[in-house]
Amino acid sequence: MRPLLIFLLTVLASTDVLAWNAAGHRLSAIIAWQGMAPETRACVDAALRHHPDHGRWREKAGADDSALIFAEASTWPDSIRHDPRFAEEAATSPLPGFPDIQRHSDWHYVDFDHLGKRGRGQLDRQIVALTETVRTTPDIARIAWALPWLAHLVADLHQPFHAGYPVDHGGNSLLVEDPADVRRPFVSLHTWWDDLPGKSGLRGKRLRQKAGALLAGQSPPRQGNEALWLRESRALLPSLYPENAGSVAQLIDATYQARAREIADRRISEAGWRLGGLLDTICRQRVSHETPREFRRQQ
Ligand SMILES: [Zn+2]
Repeated sequence: MRPLLIFLLTVLASTDVLAWNAAGHRLSAIIAWQGMAPETRACVDAALRHHPDHGRWREKAGADDSALIFAEASTWPDSIRHDPRFAEEAATSPLPGFPDIQRHSDWHYVDFDHLGKRGRGQLDRQIVALTETVRTTPDIARIAWALPWLAHLVADLHQPFHAGYPVDHGGNSLLVEDPADVRRPFVSLHTWWDDLPGKSGLRGKRLRQKAGALLAGQSPPRQGNEALWLRESRALLPSLYPENAGSVAQLIDATYQARAREIADRRISEAGWRLGGLLDTICRQRVSHETPREFRRQQ
């Protein structure tokens, strides 16, 4: 086998479904935070402080800044993939403070074939389930666990290849060639899309600046729910396969690159706005449930 081909096959074999890289998730989370009501921010911040990894997020954020900590929390479901404290299968002895230590790799995506028949993956269903958990459970540890998942998955559903076709594993088994990327000219189409938001170390002031720049070019989308966000990703999908051939794989040319960037910027912003809207609704409903109980206690 030719060395180049062996190399390319190795690249694809090591590719995993990840979703937007950490920069994409942090951008959506910061945009959500900016749009959220002050009461929602307080409700989210208070819950996240019960998460056992809150200290780690604060360290990574570089400050006790609730918005930046929320941004770090939104990357947590990806970080546990390589964390030995967590398991592929349900484990019998959960870590203190964690109601669930499964990695849940199949929550990050959902596949539908070209006829719309559902395949593997739980992405849309878990958004519904986690919303219900955060909205109704009295268990603060469970809310603290579910919130990073919810923030993460709302963004994942806005990455069209996370609602992909099973035949190419959501673009994971399709190689593309990007001559503009000298460091990594050959990656899977899925990975190429995941990396569109920029360097995965984007944090702090630069993160806020980039979020501001994204918002400047966009207008708020219709809120909708997971069914609409899924439909939108699926509607984009067929047009996101590069049409021109490169030297050994489908080519990412300047036209494709420009359009993909525009779509990624819009989807990341939409995910942020909608996550903020969803958390506003959830926290409002929690308050209206809890008020009578609080009230009774004070009588
Ligand atoms: Zn993900």
